[in-house]
Amino acid sequence: MIKYKRILLKLSGEALMGEKSYGIDSKRLEQYAKQIKKVKDLGVEIAIVIGGGNIFRGVQAENVGIDRVQGDYMGMLATLINAMALQSALEQNGNYTRLMSGIKIESVCEPFIRRRAIRHLEKGRIVIFGAGIGNPYFTTDSTASLRAIEIEAEVVLKGTRVDGVYTSDPEKDKTATRYTTLSFQEAYEKNLNIMDMTAFTLCQENNLPIIVFDMNKPGNLEKLVKGEKVGTLITSK
Ligand code: UDP
Repeated sequence: MIKYKRILLKLSGEALMGEKSYGIDSKRLEQYAKQIKKVKDLGVEIAIVIGGGNIFRGVQAENVGIDRVQGDYMGMLATLINAMALQSALEQNGNYTRLMSGIKIESVCEPFIRRRAIRHLEKGRIVIFGAGIGNPYFTTDSTASLRAIEIEAEVVLKGTRVDGVYTSDPEKDKTATRYTTLSFQEAYEKNLNIMDMTAFTLCQENNLPIIVFDMNKPGNLEKLVKGEKVGTLITSK
C-alpha cells in the first residue's frame, strides 16, 4: 500500500507564510500538520527539514551591515522557530514528535545524533531537524539531502508552491511545461533550479531520488507515499 517506508520531507520557510508577507500563518501550519498526520497513519516514518526564509536568510544580513556568517546563524535560528511551531502543530494533531537541532540548544530540543534520530523514527516519532546542519554557508536544502542520506530515507520530498520542475519559471513564462521525470544529469545539463548545487550533488552521488511537488494541494503528500505520480521525480535513471 505504501511505496516509501521512510521519507524526508523538506518544507520551505516561505511556504509557512501562507497569504502573509512575513512569519507564520496558522492556517497553513494546521493544513500541513493534518497532511503529515495522514501519512503517518499509513505507517510511514517521517523526518522533516524546514527552512527559515519567512523569517531570516543569511544573504539578507549584509544589507543591514551584519556579516554573512553571523547572518547564517541567525537564519539557522529562524529555522528552529519554524521547527518549534511545526512541532506544536503536529502534536496538537495527535503525533509524537522529536525536534533535533544542528546547534545545541538543550533546553529546547535534542542535539542531532544520527543513531538517536533513527531510533525515534523506528518508534514512530516524527523527527524534525532544526537549525540546518549547524554550519554557515549551507542551506536547508543541503540539510535535507544530508540528513536523508544519514537516516537512510528512501526519498527527499521537496514541498513547494509549484507542482514540479518546469522547462522555465511557470510564474513568469506561460509556455513552460512540467517534467514528470528527470535524471540528475538532465537536470544539471538543463540548468534546472531544483536545489542548490551542494544539495543536488549529494543526492546524485548517493542515488537518493528527489520529488518536487506542490505541498499546498491537500492530498498530494498522501498520493506520493502511495506511489502515485505527483510532481517531478528526479532519479539517477
Ligand atoms: N542556514 C545555514 N546553514 C544551514 C541551514 C541554513 O547557514 O545548514 C541559514 C542560511 O542563512 C539560510 C537560512 O539559514 O539562508 C534559512 O534557510 P533556507 O534559506 O534554506 O530556508 P528556505 O529557503 O527553505 O525557507
